Amino acid sequence: MSKLEDIVSLCKRRGFIFPGSDVYGGFAGTWDFGPLGVTLKKKIMDEWWKFFVEDREDIYGIDAAILMNPKTWEASGHTATFADPLVECKECKSRFRADKIANGINESVTTEEFLATHTKCPVCGKENWGPIRKFNMMFLTHVGAVLPDDDKEVAEKNIAYLRPETAQGIFTNYKNVVDTIYPDLPFGLAQQGKAFRNEISPRDFILRDRECSQMEIEYFVNPTTWEENFETMRKAQHEFLEDIIKLPKEKIHELEVPAEDRAHYSKRTIDFMFDYPNGEEELMGLAYRTDFDLSNIARESGKSMDYRDKVTNEVFIPHVIEPSIGVERLFLAVLSTAYHEDEINGEKRVVLKLPENLAPYKFCVSPLLKNKPELVEKAKEVYNILRKKYGNVTWDDSGNIGKRYRKQDEIGTPKCIVIDFETLDNDTVTIRDRDTTNQIRQNISEL
Ligand SMILES: [Zn+2]
Repeated sequence: MSKLEDIVSLCKRRGFIFPGSDVYGGFAGTWDFGPLGVTLKKKIMDEWWKFFVEDREDIYGIDAAILMNPKTWEASGHTATFADPLVECKECKSRFRADKIANGINESVTTEEFLATHTKCPVCGKENWGPIRKFNMMFLTHVGAVLPDDDKEVAEKNIAYLRPETAQGIFTNYKNVVDTIYPDLPFGLAQQGKAFRNEISPRDFILRDRECSQMEIEYFVNPTTWEENFETMRKAQHEFLEDIIKLPKEKIHELEVPAEDRAHYSKRTIDFMFDYPNGEEELMGLAYRTDFDLSNIARESGKSMDYRDKVTNEVFIPHVIEPSIGVERLFLAVLSTAYHEDEINGEKRVVLKLPENLAPYKFCVSPLLKNKPELVEKAKEVYNILRKKYGNVTWDDSGNIGKRYRKQDEIGTPKCIVIDFETLDNDTVTIRDRDTTNQIRQNISEL
């Protein structure tokens, strides 16, 4: 099993992921995707979009603004309940999420319950705690011309938040979509985009960061049919994760979330857990959100969210099934599944066995020798043919062949093509397979 540190180190070494603002010493809870990382991330997101939006007739895409009217977060309950239990050590002033440093308590823990766990401060080892305070995780900002010396009232009128989830951008557009494209129920709206959470203690690499990308679908259904639609959505998630992204079935575990642990809006939630290198962690969630959001919007906006069935004329507010997945979580699941160490000719090798549809590059093309113009010219020719045909092809003429193979193995390139003197005679090239390291000769026209 791969270790998280090995993956973090590979990510930095090969340009997948760097610490955010690295040059200034970093910025907690942020990560930057490098050239290879952004390619892999984009491929994951494109596969999701193709599977759930383009290949289906009942799910449409939208892309809503990150800044939203603050009423959104009043209606959704985020202003009141999107909070973590913050506790401060009176000795060393360190602040922690109470439910993360004590066992057997959850987010709604009270001061008394926390003190009863007799938890010691992870920093100074003392047991001298202040009260539990609710810490809202939304990032607050001001919109428009607000100056630092403006009074509180002016500042408060201009408050806005960076969205803590993409879902509300979908709910607030439900009526626009119904009024413009008249979809039949059930139908879904899908969105990919950034969401922000001011985590008290970001950790575990990209698993718990302050800025992340989400892929969410709100699937609107007739309330009498929510159970069957929940089942269909659940199957579709497995199909996506296992058949398209190629995550191993045995590493995905469903967890039926008990009522007391569910989010305030949910009547049923299944967490899809994944075996990460640092243990089992949530990969995605599937929640039955009832008509919680649309009803709140109807109340807060004064506008009807009713849906009229075209056949039966029945009028109701649709209920919602929501599959929600964090791109970074999926990214790490893909990387940790692909990461392998083995030995080739007595030498340790790190290899990313990425599925072909996700590998940043499908082929690497190189001339056997860099200083033979006829080989370089022929190799460029092959490189250009493949680039035109497949797009994601890379060129490498650095170091010796062995070093090039090591590098391509580490970034997950499935096939390396080498142009040698035999190529000049008969138009065949060497193709070396990443996983087996076997080499075959093949005609250029068959690539
Ligand atoms: Zn302390």
